[in-house]
Amino acid sequence: MNLRVVDIVEGTSVDGAGLRTAIYMAGCAHACPGCHNPHTWPFDSGRDMTPGQVLEIVERNGFNVTFSGGDPIYQAEALVQLARELHARGYNLWCYTGFTFEQLLEMPQAMALLRYIDILVDGPFDEMLRDTDLRFRGSSNQRIIDVQPSLDAGTPVVATRYTEKTFS
Ligand code: SF4
Repeated sequence: MNLRVVDIVEGTSVDGAGLRTAIYMAGCAHACPGCHNPHTWPFDSGRDMTPGQVLEIVERNGFNVTFSGGDPIYQAEALVQLARELHARGYNLWCYTGFTFEQLLEMPQAMALLRYIDILVDGPFDEMLRDTDLRFRGSSNQRIIDVQPSLDAGTPVVATRYTEKTFS
């Protein structure tokens, strides 16, 4: 199944820990006021790519990988194959979403994807809670979640090592 991709940025340091390849997926319906990426909202923005084409770009530099957008969860079914392959090759995977972890628990396709995700940054961007001192997230309602322990517990486990404002 092809992926609809708006952009791929190699070597970003703002979309998760360390240098990463960020894959910006097309499509978002959350319409958060103040969103920085409204050009990614249309589900037909960007271009079609096969999982293999994306994998080839990731392998070019070997950076860990972040799924962003848009909201990658809308393409969870298509992303599973790529995420499984990246996980098998030892890449650390972050995923951004405007849904909350609790909402994803009710979405079977999202759950299939989360099996391969290390860190989830969840929740919509809230302009009223915007805080430019926060790392890896735009507003304080968003959580940085350790996905596998959270799936085991059935409740979100915050990755506190990334939530300190002084984290470096
Ligand atoms: S979830 Fe992200 S991409 Fe979607 S509207 Fe909100 S801030 Fe923008």
